[in-house]
Amino acid sequence: MNAPDVCILGTGPVAASLALALARQGISTALTTTTAAAAPTEDVRTYALNAGSVALLRSLRVWDALPVDAATAVDAMRIHGDAGGELEFSAWQQRESALAWIVDAQALDAGLAQALLYAPHVQRVAQPVEAPLQAICEGKNSAARAAHGVTFKRDAYGHSALAARIVSDAPHQGVAHQWFRNPEILALLPFDRPVSNASFGLVWSMPHEDALARAALSPEDFEAALNDACGSEAGRLRLGSERLVWPLAAARAEPCCGPGWVLLGDAAHQVHPLAGQGLNLGLADVSSLARILGQARREEAWRSLGDERLLRRHVRERAWHVRSVSGVSDGLWQLFSRPEDPVRALRNQGMSLLNKMPTLKRWLVTQAMASDTPS
Ligand SMILES: Cc1cc2nc3c(=O)[nH]c(=O)nc-3n(C[C@H](O)[C@H](O)[C@H](O)COP(=O)(O)OP(=O)(O)OC[C@H]3O[C@@H](n4cnc5c(N)ncnc54)[C@H](O)[C@@H]3O)c2cc1C
Repeated sequence: MNAPDVCILGTGPVAASLALALARQGISTALTTTTAAAAPTEDVRTYALNAGSVALLRSLRVWDALPVDAATAVDAMRIHGDAGGELEFSAWQQRESALAWIVDAQALDAGLAQALLYAPHVQRVAQPVEAPLQAICEGKNSAARAAHGVTFKRDAYGHSALAARIVSDAPHQGVAHQWFRNPEILALLPFDRPVSNASFGLVWSMPHEDALARAALSPEDFEAALNDACGSEAGRLRLGSERLVWPLAAARAEPCCGPGWVLLGDAAHQVHPLAGQGLNLGLADVSSLARILGQARREEAWRSLGDERLLRRHVRERAWHVRSVSGVSDGLWQLFSRPEDPVRALRNQGMSLLNKMPTLKRWLVTQAMASDTPS
């Protein structure tokens, strides 16, 4: 086996994307294979991906190879407050082709695995190997991060997200729905699996005990609770998959790099999924690091890819974006977790007011769609 330039630890979408992105820069990698600790094989999640993530996946030849029903464009989004507040975004009004794309988590993993089969400079290894740089993409419970003595300050929300595939008796028409109903946040993301044009990805966050109790309900009782929560807005809803529960937390690693190592994706930062930004942040980390390492290889060939000054360049570039996305996700959660008036009345009035401010809405959409990293 040839000694690689970079050893990538992890088997998730960030690790696989990084191996592909570095291969395009002519940088060789050793990528670890699945361990016993890896995620369960069934993943009912759908990811909302922004334009920056789609551009990266397209450049890696993954996006256009996804099955047609594995990625659905979001044409409009309706957000409902807990006291009459309403906010609506539409791709057409924002002069965008889509507000986001809803992607099958398992199809994305399979697409990345397929692309890796043909990628040059990528070796698969059972265990981490020696390399000038260790790129740690092990997710939120990273062991290598802990071995480097990194602080991973985690604020548990005490809430969990219940995810499932849902089928409606009405077409989704590319519309995403989100209800902020203290203490719950419920999102229905338009999707084409298991039924084309009539499915949704459900992400329903609520106090942990409630999530476990809802996941244990009979399908009929669960569907009744879901239809109760959504009214007739998205049609009559029924379960289209298993229900899985993820505990939620916000976390940030400090430091994110050191001599010969760097953290990416959930190993570096974890955010509440209410804004659908966790993987988008991880893929933006990939774009940034691959660009900086590729540039160093071309222009500073004498420099080791594990040189901490190089890695700090990447961490500095990512810091503002990561902080602002975590701040917005957490701020929204805090704002909608307060049950009392006048906070409740004000947030709903604020939503309806914002709905009448096209310039501000346009700015918000641009921020949400961007990866904030030049590719
Ligand atoms: C309910 C829910 C909904 C979400 N929705 C969205 C969304 O709409 N949009 C969005 O952008 N994000 C979303 N996210 C966030 C997204 O899932 C994560 O940000 C993303 O999965 C992070 O990818 P990762 O590769 O960094 O980590 P992971 O996906 O956690 O992958 C890391 C993998 O590496 C494995 N591993 C660990 N150590 C080793 C080792 N030494 N060797 C080999 N393998 C190892 C782990 O077992 C794990 O499988 C959501 C999250 C949840 C919980």
